[in-house]
Amino acid sequence: MTHEKVILVTGGSGLVGKAIEWVIENDKGKYGKGEGEKWVFLTSKDGDLRSIEATRAIFEKYKPNQVIHLAALVGGLFKNIKYKLDLLRDNLLINDNVLHTAHEHKVEKVVSCLSTCIFPDKTTYPIDETMIHNGPPHESNFGYAYAKRLIDSQNKAYNDQFGDNFTSVIPTNVFGPHDNYDLQDSHVIPGLIHKCYLAKKNGTPFVVAGTGKPLRQFIYSRDLAKLFIWVLREYKEIDPIILSVGEKDEICIKDVADAIVKAVGFEGEYSFDTSKSDGQYKKTANNAKLLKYLPDFQFTPFEVAVKESTDWFIQNYGNARTGNP
Ligand code: NAP
Ligand code: GDP
Repeated sequence: MTHEKVILVTGGSGLVGKAIEWVIENDKGKYGKGEGEKWVFLTSKDGDLRSIEATRAIFEKYKPNQVIHLAALVGGLFKNIKYKLDLLRDNLLINDNVLHTAHEHKVEKVVSCLSTCIFPDKTTYPIDETMIHNGPPHESNFGYAYAKRLIDSQNKAYNDQFGDNFTSVIPTNVFGPHDNYDLQDSHVIPGLIHKCYLAKKNGTPFVVAGTGKPLRQFIYSRDLAKLFIWVLREYKEIDPIILSVGEKDEICIKDVADAIVKAVGFEGEYSFDTSKSDGQYKKTANNAKLLKYLPDFQFTPFEVAVKESTDWFIQNYGNARTGNP
């Protein structure tokens, strides 16, 4: 009989967790569920990971062999500006509890999640994996950024002192089904899909925050999910790896808004509210390390992924996270 391998995913109800669940259940190739694997997708209802007791109870219950650690207090630019202390404290507590409990349980591998928005603000471009700690992050998100940077320090310390196999990945901006489509606190793509949908439905203006000029690289959550599964199964380094489309696929916020207008089928005019923050102008990341390992990885074309995310939002309007009561 094959020995069962338990893979615990913290934050399993979020954008990235739901995408991993979808790939595990639906991919017929190498990213689908492996023989003998039992995947457990946690939500905050299983326990508040800010509490060490709750975290220990979860690990005691499931006895995971491997962990994908996604759970975090997450938000777009405007949430990062408003809730710096919550983003710092909640994420420090969650990460410390998960990593230390994984250590206590001798978990054989943990893959945690950083983000390209934690990199230094004043930097040269493109950014690569070696530059995480090279200077202060952008003022708008230093709470979130410092908590996330410490995961990389913890991973190295657990490995140096105890030989633990804890690593991390660095995705660029993620979007897809099951995203947080809140109008105020979400990331740009889900926020604008929701706003554009309402503008079409109610015949009201579609207003994009900022100048539309900032540049971003976006990764579709289901592409990221495949890469996460590959990292869990095959990536051997403790040092992080950037999971991103290439530099040539970086686009401006106006191009994002145009793709959303097309996907929603909105025919009115739209405008930019330049009184709102642009955030960081760019954070161009280099995906050479990823391509060295996986030169043939196929990313979903941006417009296809925006259309799938928009269709998912419209079909799930009543159930999606929209900030509506
Ligand atoms: P998300 O959709 O907001 O999901 C967050 C997940 O964390 C949910 O499952 C939530 O559970 C869980 N969670 C939050 N606080 C918790 C707590 N105190 N105890 C237990 N669980 C808690 O986030 P996401 O976009 O999937 O992000 C996943 C990871 O990717 C995060 O580590 C994030 O930093 C990283 N990341 C995201 C992006 C992006 O653009 N979205 C970009 C780069 C990196 P409930 O559903 O029960 O609340
Ligand atoms: P960031 O990449 O961490 O800054 O996160 P976001 O996903 O929040 O993207 C922010 C960029 O999109 C900024 O340049 C914003 O000015 C712009 N933007 C335009 N409209 C919106 C919106 O409705 N929500 C958000 N979050 N950003 C928007």
